[in-house]
Amino acid sequence: MQLDNLYQAVILDHYKRPEHKGLSVPSDVQVHHINPSCGDELTLNLSLVDGRISLTWDGVGCSISMACASMMAGLLTGKTLSEAEPILDSFVSLMQSKGTQSGDEEILEDAVAFAGVSKYPARIKCALLSWMAFKDAAVQVEGKQSLGSEN
Ligand code: ZN
Repeated sequence: MQLDNLYQAVILDHYKRPEHKGLSVPSDVQVHHINPSCGDELTLNLSLVDGRISLTWDGVGCSISMACASMMAGLLTGKTLSEAEPILDSFVSLMQSKGTQSGDEEILEDAVAFAGVSKYPARIKCALLSWMAFKDAAVQVEGKQSLGSEN
């Protein structure tokens, strides 16, 4: 696959030097997601610290899936769940754009580097793996919170 060189550099950089990699102990929620079509596997830990997201992850897989997990963890850590939601939605719609969108840099920051991936249907699941794991974890952590004491 050919990606724009600059974007490819950003992705490779995250792949080589992943951020937030290494699972925190303990976490509020842990999810494990796989992308069988490529063989990518990801474990994501989500904790809320004073209402703010803390993400750590570990996994094995292709450069797209691992770089995307690194970038997503960096982007969402420190945000609230309600702040993370539009970022998630924006990334998902970018991946569904079939190469017609370049992504909103105000919302997605460096994650716009993955815009070119949306032209390659086989790789979209790689890019979305970590985001779908986050979505799953966010739903679970919200459920736990509503069961516990409200603060
Ligand atoms: Zn992959």
